[in-house]
Amino acid sequence: MSNNTACEACSFYESHVANTGKAAENAGLCRFNPPVSQPEANARGLWPVVSANDWCGHFAAEQAA
Ligand code: SF4
Repeated sequence: MSNNTACEACSFYESHVANTGKAAENAGLCRFNPPVSQPEANARGLWPVVSANDWCGHFAAEQAA
């Protein structure tokens, strides 16, 4: 798979953000799907954390502004 389709170039990727509210080194959140893995009934669900150079079959290139 080409690096041109890495998460860092995907429109669903939110760079340098973690579920903890702290900055994430070379990682971010994938917002393709709703949050998952809600640990407790009163807790928030978690967005999947992915590496900037990760990839998946749902990649969508970012649109030029
Ligand atoms: S996991 Fe897939 S959909 Fe999510 S940011 Fe990476 S390429 Fe995009």
